[in-house]
Amino acid sequence: MDVKTVCVFCGSRPGARPEFLAAARELGEELVRRNLTLIYGGASVGLMGAVADAVLSAGGRAVGVLPFSLQQREIGHQGLHELHLVNSMHERKALMAKRSDAFVALPGGFGTFEELFEIITWGQLGLHAKPIGLLDVGGYFQPLITMVRRGVEDGFIPQAQERPFAVSASASELLDRLQAGPTMQVTEKWLRRTEET
Ligand code: AMP
Repeated sequence: MDVKTVCVFCGSRPGARPEFLAAARELGEELVRRNLTLIYGGASVGLMGAVADAVLSAGGRAVGVLPFSLQQREIGHQGLHELHLVNSMHERKALMAKRSDAFVALPGGFGTFEELFEIITWGQLGLHAKPIGLLDVGGYFQPLITMVRRGVEDGFIPQAQERPFAVSASASELLDRLQAGPTMQVTEKWLRRTEET
């Protein structure tokens, strides 16, 4: 599948180190260089706002999806090409997933983890075959990768799914990998493996 839109999951906070904001901006600029549309949570704060601002300043296209209930807390971005206001978190994630051809997680908190893991589980179930990537700024995702490895070692995650995502510290290299094709194994194999165990 040709990647035209990229969903970015990331912190609604900027994080404690300047490299996080710098990476968010670099990702935004790289999306525009590749003529890729940003799909994201619609906030103007934290890394979320930084990615969108970078896309817009570079002349790219940005689409946000924000629940009505978070409009105040995350402050809906006013400069987007499209800002969809929805009724729930579930609607938000469903619309973001539907509009996106690939997914990138930048550093973030529980919201980012939740969005990332949900999209991995949807891939595992065969609900989509879209590539997923982690922008591993300053090694932020290394403990998460270790946790997934532990899940494999202890028999909860099939070996074939040990790396359901591409990982890179460089936005450009990560997008190269996502544009090259899916990062997860096909569903049938996963289902068969679970039936065997
Ligand atoms: P965080 O990484 O915690 O700063 O959150 C990043 C984004 O994820 C924010 O826009 C949160 O509103 C969003 N988020 C948190 N939990 C959920 C959820 N269950 N479904 C959809 N979005 C969520």
